[in-house]
Amino acid sequence: MSLAILQATDADAVDAVIDAGRFSATRGWVPATSGNFSARAQDGRIAITASGVDKGALSAADVLRIALDAPPPAGSSAETALHLALYRRDAAIGGIVHIHSPHATVLSRRRGAAGEILLENYELLKAFAGIRTHATRLAVPIFPNSQDIGALADQIDRRLDAGTAAPGYLLAGHGLYAWGATMRDALRHAEAFEFLFGCELVGAAA
Ligand SMILES: [Zn+2]
Repeated sequence: MSLAILQATDADAVDAVIDAGRFSATRGWVPATSGNFSARAQDGRIAITASGVDKGALSAADVLRIALDAPPPAGSSAETALHLALYRRDAAIGGIVHIHSPHATVLSRRRGAAGEILLENYELLKAFAGIRTHATRLAVPIFPNSQDIGALADQIDRRLDAGTAAPGYLLAGHGLYAWGATMRDALRHAEAFEFLFGCELVGAAA
């Protein structure tokens, strides 16, 4: 696994994307070719999965290399724009994971009307970069799902401008976006979110 690599080169970024897809497929987070993954190399270029490919069986040919400010090339997923918007707004983001994981999908539907999910007093909150204690309150924004990605990107930008500590957000009935300084961080965040969303679901059922 090369997830520990800080994506120094284009090739490292491509490898990080391929490994992230494989890992996520083993977890059942990317059913039926869903989800997408991207990593930023030190030269600023983005490696990102092409549309419609099995994320558990990626090869380098399934990973597009794009410039941050150029229009996405043919073969890009519609959701590429959501990845690029995050990279543009925060130079500290090095990896982004978008998954259609079960707990994120179900909980985002149940709590969509509230506009966010509050995670607090979980030990696993310490999995998120910069959090040192369970005595933390993390609000994860939820946006209504939309096929109008441009409008969605604007809405997400406005909400993130207003401030959020969570390295992720939910699209209701759709899935999770999570990010980090490296792909390894983004995957750890995604795994922590998915576990904590599961806890919220079990707690709500009790
Ligand atoms: Zn999606």
